[in-house]
Amino acid sequence: MIRPLSPALPASSPLSGHDQDSQAEKAETLRVTEIFFSLQGETSRVGLPTVFVRLTGCPLRCGYCDTEYAFYGGKRLSVAAIMAEVGNFGTRYITVTGGEPLAQKGCLVLLKELCDADYSVSLETSGALDVSMVDARVAKIMDIKTPGSGEVKKNHWPNICHLTRHDEVKFVLCDEMDYRWAVDIIREHRLDLICPILFSPVYGTLEPATLATWILRDRLPVRMQVQLHKLLWGGEPGR
Ligand code: SF4
Repeated sequence: MIRPLSPALPASSPLSGHDQDSQAEKAETLRVTEIFFSLQGETSRVGLPTVFVRLTGCPLRCGYCDTEYAFYGGKRLSVAAIMAEVGNFGTRYITVTGGEPLAQKGCLVLLKELCDADYSVSLETSGALDVSMVDARVAKIMDIKTPGSGEVKKNHWPNICHLTRHDEVKFVLCDEMDYRWAVDIIREHRLDLICPILFSPVYGTLEPATLATWILRDRLPVRMQVQLHKLLWGGEPGR
């Protein structure tokens, strides 16, 4: 993801080759919907004060999507500007989310820069786009889209080969058919041997208690989660 040096940089610049690459990467721009500070609502990092960088755009259209406002618009910011804004919050936990953050190629640069700056970085991704180039220091929180999402055909199955123990796979479940489908996928791919697995009920559609009963009945090796931010704030944008 190295791009040519900005033509604005003087030809006689004293920067070394490495510095020039770094400057070019920081000049990479991304379309950003919002940057905000909140409690992480999901995953093994739930409850941690976290800065969220929400990138604009998504090629999917899940039926339960709660971030449609991130499909379009946003503001174009350089990686350097995003780094500066993130630094203002004084926390080491950063989540890059969307939309689908990997839909913008500059996302890979941003993730690397955040890791280089010693942040603890997680990436929320739909599982539809290739994750193989994501910096290995990033915790990938990767969805596997169920039939109930309406986007099951978009799953990029080779992504499973690029998951490690510090990543997490997430199934967002609409109903019992989704639940049974997810159980089959876990068994088929032995996902429980690869990384932690998250089961989330669709907010307002599948009763959390019902999902909990199924998980206990079937002795599933998964972590059930409800979205903390929705319990606290009802899922308002930027919270
Ligand atoms: S992948 Fe995420 S952002 Fe994109 S439509 Fe689905 S739920 Fe919404």
